[in-house]
Amino acid sequence: MEKFDVVIVGGGVSGLIASCRASEMGASVLVLEKMQRAGCKLLITGKGRCNITNTASQSEYFNYIRPKSKFLKYAFSNFFSKDIIALLQKNGVETVEERGGRVFPKSNKASDVLEAILNQAKANNVEIRYDSKVEKLVYDNNQSVQGVEYSQNGQFKKVLSGSVIICTGGMSYPATGSDGDGYTLAESAGHTIEPVRPALVPLETKGEIAKRLQGLSLKNVKAVVWMDGKKQREEFGEMLFTHFGLSGPIILTISRYVVDDIRNKHRVNISIDLKPALDENKLDNRLLRDLEEHSNKKIENIAKLWFPKKIIPVFFDETDINPDKEGHQVTSKERRRIKMFMKELTFQVKGYRSFKEAVITAGGIPTSEIDSKTMCSKLVNNMYFAGEVIDLDGDTGGFNLQIAYSTGWLAGQSCAKALGYKD
Ligand SMILES: Cc1cc2nc3c(=O)[nH]c(=O)nc-3n(C[C@H](O)[C@H](O)[C@H](O)COP(=O)(O)OP(=O)(O)OC[C@H]3O[C@@H](n4cnc5c(N)ncnc54)[C@H](O)[C@@H]3O)c2cc1C
Repeated sequence: MEKFDVVIVGGGVSGLIASCRASEMGASVLVLEKMQRAGCKLLITGKGRCNITNTASQSEYFNYIRPKSKFLKYAFSNFFSKDIIALLQKNGVETVEERGGRVFPKSNKASDVLEAILNQAKANNVEIRYDSKVEKLVYDNNQSVQGVEYSQNGQFKKVLSGSVIICTGGMSYPATGSDGDGYTLAESAGHTIEPVRPALVPLETKGEIAKRLQGLSLKNVKAVVWMDGKKQREEFGEMLFTHFGLSGPIILTISRYVVDDIRNKHRVNISIDLKPALDENKLDNRLLRDLEEHSNKKIENIAKLWFPKKIIPVFFDETDINPDKEGHQVTSKERRRIKMFMKELTFQVKGYRSFKEAVITAGGIPTSEIDSKTMCSKLVNNMYFAGEVIDLDGDTGGFNLQIAYSTGWLAGQSCAKALGYKD
């Protein structure tokens, strides 16, 4: 029977990094990947540019990751952002840091990042088998994992190993191969699964406004989340209107909470502050000034000073102001309605998009069932976890890939150590 020291289920980022580490320490490693190539998801990260990691400090990372970010303390201290940057550099990928500590390849090509990691794995003699879908875990008489069964071109095969690392990802963008198999494998071994749901996902809203504004992207706006009438949180930055509702970076970030609020049957509104730099007073002064300066112009023309063109028809419908009125004819009541539109353009959230459009999956294998010092299952011997399959998810900004590298590196290292290999 064929045997490897380590079998890795899934050739995504976490699996490949785990393979690099275990093989570097001397272990023989087989990666089984069900797609025809490795790292399909990595190729589409950062809109094809790959936001590799973030240069924030470890303690800052904990603010961007849920639900139990401190679980990652050891994994981060073992392999962090500087380490992945160094690994990529060693394999020919130069990186650049952008706004908010986001790190990208200088070439702006996610494919360069994948190639570098694959080159590292190949240099260490990692074997990768494609079209190889792991179907089952294999146990010895003591109920310890000792290999897997997988299907390849319609044939069932078995391979034995000292340990198995589950790196199957979550459920998001299932066309990239991550469609939830890891949960089934873990459940079969007795693990529980924290309910999985889409995170970093666009939101669907009631009414026609978003649809009328579809395609419009706004920078420097503030989105405020209201749950059952109470202000919950806010995000400042860029957003996008779509035919079904709201998307773009700040909406994806708040979606992590909104999805749970909706699932818990709360009423959720999101109000957009189009002029976050101006408080009520300053905004009022600005409006008074504009209306006075252009007192003989139609408000239809004055509005062009305030909004992108696409918003203007919506503005008139929502404020019920006659566009033919001139600046000097605008009443104080109408000015209040203008301010309201600018500061609180409100949408009722009716739902969220599916896993097909979710950047990340929330939920998965509970961290309480995994040893944070090794990534080994606390329930079954010789079985490890890494990456998005674990119940951890981060904001946009490079945090999710860093979770995958750090947990992958630690899982690979722990397997090799457990088998007697030394650094
Ligand atoms: C559109 C998009 C953009 C993103 N951009 C960024 C970004 O710029 N920066 C960032 O930090 N994060 C980003 N992310 C998130 C990031 O890509 C993931 O967090 C990361 O890829 C998770 O790595 P993973 O190895 O856990 O899972 P994956 O990368 O999903 O890999 C899992 C692998 O396991 C394989 N597999 C599954 N089941 C089996 C099975 N039964 N047998 C064999 N193989 C199996 C799959 O085919 C897949 O190749 C983005 C995600 C998406 C969807």
